[in-house]
Amino acid sequence: MNVIEEFLNLVLPGICVLCQRKGSPLCSACKSVFSGPVIEVQRSNTDGFLLKGFAVSHYSKSAATLVHELKENSQTSLASAMAKHMATSLAAGLKENNSFRSVCLVPIPSKKTSFQKRGFNPSLLLAKKISNYLRKQKSIKIQVENCLRLNREVLDQASQVGLARRQNLAGAISLVRPPSSKEIWLVDDVVTTGSTLLEAARCLSESGLRVSGFVVFAETLPKHLQKARAAAI
Ligand SMILES: [Zn+2]
Repeated sequence: MNVIEEFLNLVLPGICVLCQRKGSPLCSACKSVFSGPVIEVQRSNTDGFLLKGFAVSHYSKSAATLVHELKENSQTSLASAMAKHMATSLAAGLKENNSFRSVCLVPIPSKKTSFQKRGFNPSLLLAKKISNYLRKQKSIKIQVENCLRLNREVLDQASQVGLARRQNLAGAISLVRPPSSKEIWLVDDVVTTGSTLLEAARCLSESGLRVSGFVVFAETLPKHLQKARAAAI
């Protein structure tokens, strides 16, 4: 996102990206769609490594639109509303575990080409907004540690499944510097197979750090697993 786009984002009257009502990029009626109960999510790899987390929403059409507008149309003003719901989910989850102390948020890094195209990392932006919201609204201090890096360009994850996806990511993420906090929560916009989050957690745990879980805006499964989930219900 360049300076002009950022400026226009701030000064132009917003139009709700979901219902096109004038006033703000996400009107209060559409915001309330995402006020449902916290969705508990878990993802694991074939080694039995399990990571638990929280999602605000299933990957509905509305959720997909928000994510798309944030990432592909530089609608960064949406990040505050999305992060508010993510912060609420995280705070509710952490309260159950009674552990606000020593927590930090670690965003999933962007691909270099995506960062160059967008000019920002959506996960880092969401993590910063979550931290701001928790500090201002709930007096909870949680640092953001932008400490991970993608070592090389990985192929588009959406086009891959299972083993290919994991192999694509193996060793792709590394630690730039260790975070100062002990309890790490990963932040991303969407979780599908969880391969990226699991690889980030593997990278951090290899350095002796503990990843407690993750928080995302939306969760979904690849189509072949969605059918399996539906059949199991
Ligand atoms: Zn609306």
